[in-house]
Amino acid sequence: EFFLVYQPIVDLRSGRWIGAEALIRWQRGAEETVGPDIFIPVAEQAGLIGLMTQRVIELVGRDAQGVFSRRPDFHIALNLSAADLYSEETVRWLDELMASTCAAPGNLIVEITERGFTDSHKAKEVLGTLRNKGIKIAVDDFGTGYSNIGLLQNLKLDYLKIDKSFVDSIGTEAASSGVVRHIVSMAKSLELDLIAEGVETKEQVTALLDIGVGFAQGWYYAKPMAYGELMAGVANREKLVRPHKEMIVEA
Ligand code: C2E
Ligand code: CA
Ligand code: CA
Repeated sequence: EFFLVYQPIVDLRSGRWIGAEALIRWQRGAEETVGPDIFIPVAEQAGLIGLMTQRVIELVGRDAQGVFSRRPDFHIALNLSAADLYSEETVRWLDELMASTCAAPGNLIVEITERGFTDSHKAKEVLGTLRNKGIKIAVDDFGTGYSNIGLLQNLKLDYLKIDKSFVDSIGTEAASSGVVRHIVSMAKSLELDLIAEGVETKEQVTALLDIGVGFAQGWYYAKPMAYGELMAGVANREKLVRPHKEMIVEA
């Protein structure tokens, strides 16, 4: 009953789809699709999240078999829960995924939240192992957790995903609207790439480009979709050239 949808990650400058995030759905009977916000927390509490993660990795492997031999510049990101970072099995499953998708370094990304790794020696060890294999690490929902700057410095990370709440505040009077700018300068000094989440308007796109954010995902560009649709979309946008700086590609 579980299946995956994929939301494109877009290069803000060119409009190309450079990657995608895998998001789980639960099909219950013919009519009802349940979102992960409902069942992921329950699975975590019940100690079942490992099984779910295993299934997600398996489904990505099935959908995206051999994909990176055809599309070496593409990436697929998947979400890990805190408990996944305590388990060597996660490493084994991701090893298998690297093999089945023909992944080279940079083709697979795991997304973790700050809660996932703050106090744990083991989590750092697992993340280090993954990174040594060429799997990139993204901090999800950045800015909503502990945002321990020292930890960000010590851990080897690759991407920060700016939480939707900050993207929403862009151009408003809200106190948090200036925070995005600070996140950008911090990411620059830590040499991390930025992905803005939940981008819904052209104004947000303009503002994000303006402050130097490179990548985004959100309904402005595309909602999560089936794997086949994703690959068709990637192919359609391949011909897009890098436009002038002041030009913004329409969704
Ligand atoms: P997330 O990792 O922050 O994923 C982004 C969520 O924002 C997704 O919701 C996506 O559909 C939604 N979204 C993207 N663009 C927009 C937008 O422009 N506007 C709005 N309003 N929403 C947007 P989704 O798919 O319901 O996932 C919710 C959360 O469930 C995810 O948040 C993630 O934390 C968790 N999740 C999803 N799939 C998995 C999974 O396979 N494993 C684990 N452990 N967690 C998962
Ligand atoms: Ca995520
Ligand atoms: Ca997120």
